[in-house]
Amino acid sequence: MSLFVFNNAFLSNVETDLFTIVAQDGGLGDNNTGADLGSNYIQIMYQPTLNSFGGQIVDAIVNHSPYTVAVVGVDSTFVGPDGTPVKGKAGLTYCPDAAGQIWIFYDLSQCAGAGYYTLDGANNKIDLPNPVVLFHELSHAYHYGVGDATCTNGAPNNPGLYEVQAINDENLLRAELGLPQRALVYAGGCRAGGSGGSGGGGGSGGGGSCFIVTAAYGSPNAPEVNRMRMVRDGLLRRSFFGEEFFARFYQEYDQFSPRIATEMELSPRFRILITKLTVEPLLEYFKLLQSYIAGAWQNPELFEDFIVQSIQEFVVRLSEAGIDSGQAAQIQGSVCGIAKSLENRILSEGPSSELSDPEIDAVCKQLAQFIQSSTGTRVHILWALLRPLEMFWGAVARAQSGGYTGREIASEFVAAMADWLGHVPLEAFSCVRPNHAETDLRYLSEKIMTVPSVRHTFGWRLLLWYQGTVPHLDEILRSSGFCESTGNAEEG
Ligand SMILES: [Zn+2]
Repeated sequence: MSLFVFNNAFLSNVETDLFTIVAQDGGLGDNNTGADLGSNYIQIMYQPTLNSFGGQIVDAIVNHSPYTVAVVGVDSTFVGPDGTPVKGKAGLTYCPDAAGQIWIFYDLSQCAGAGYYTLDGANNKIDLPNPVVLFHELSHAYHYGVGDATCTNGAPNNPGLYEVQAINDENLLRAELGLPQRALVYAGGCRAGGSGGSGGGGGSGGGGSCFIVTAAYGSPNAPEVNRMRMVRDGLLRRSFFGEEFFARFYQEYDQFSPRIATEMELSPRFRILITKLTVEPLLEYFKLLQSYIAGAWQNPELFEDFIVQSIQEFVVRLSEAGIDSGQAAQIQGSVCGIAKSLENRILSEGPSSELSDPEIDAVCKQLAQFIQSSTGTRVHILWALLRPLEMFWGAVARAQSGGYTGREIASEFVAAMADWLGHVPLEAFSCVRPNHAETDLRYLSEKIMTVPSVRHTFGWRLLLWYQGTVPHLDEILRSSGFCESTGNAEEG
């Protein structure tokens, strides 16, 4: 039944943003007496004298909501009570708590000055100014107030709809403020700071979103999303090569993933099918990869058992979702069809799938269309997403065919995984400055390309591509464990 603003250094900025939201309506005021949230809060009063959409939402919160809404202006270092950093998200709104309070935190520093962006309908980056950020969060609080958004255990019951509600409201405000409309997708983050790797600090800032995994599990904080993010940021990105690789990857991925995520939010069945056909196999694949490079490769029998178990459990979950695992071979074929069409740049034809299940067939075709709508080389998508899907579905298909033992399937899978890892696209390496090459290669050698055969493949490819461009590349490769001499060459 009220709106409060925390009285800190950002108070006047928050009030200015509120004033913008209500179209500079003089009916907006504050009142620091009788604040039932305590003396650190300023109560916002509003008697509308103008009719604006922003004003209607603020009026509803101030004068008609069953909840007490508390707005706290913060900078990008702020971390929410549940551990979610505000940085990259611009604003956080929490579910109503037991005391009937809704907490909103938003980053007035615009990601420490880098600026926030979201996407318009053509996937162009558009600004996310502070009043818009605040209004978006207020809209979430408004919908809790009117009851068309609800929570269970601190999370929205329908995260897709919840986001669509706020984006629709945000677009109405954008129209009032003369700002461009954003696309109906949960997308955006910090704009890239400077150019190139600055070397210092470590905190890389640059977002890179797991749109599809987030849509699959309904929350950017779901354990599955966190695990993917941890592997990415904690392991893969920790080198200049890795950082540059992901920058290129997201250039390709961000072209189509918000569209898939939106479709998933609109259609629950599409969400389940995309999750089962692509997200879960990829999560399984990267889980296996993680243990492989962490040392499981040294214990092949144990690792093969682990693979067999992973595939069996995956098949059980498929059937629980009503998907016939007997179609694995066709699904693999369909994924390969997408991969082939990207390789050959045959964009007009969809995957040459012959799926007996029309529902899955339709989803594969739709997926192909989304991916094919992107432009550029798409080598990173091909390598990081489609190849692993082919490998995983291939293993499932062989397991379902009954013609192979678990060991045969697993050892073939391991060989394919090693070959795949050694064939990571090399374009990103051109951005690693020569004085970082040695540190980078050492990191790759110790943490990611831990398997000798993988280092051998990668080392040779790198040498062929960049010899002459990177000074002393052959020496660096040898000293960091690549290009291991098979003969009796003297030690470097
Ligand atoms: Zn939102």
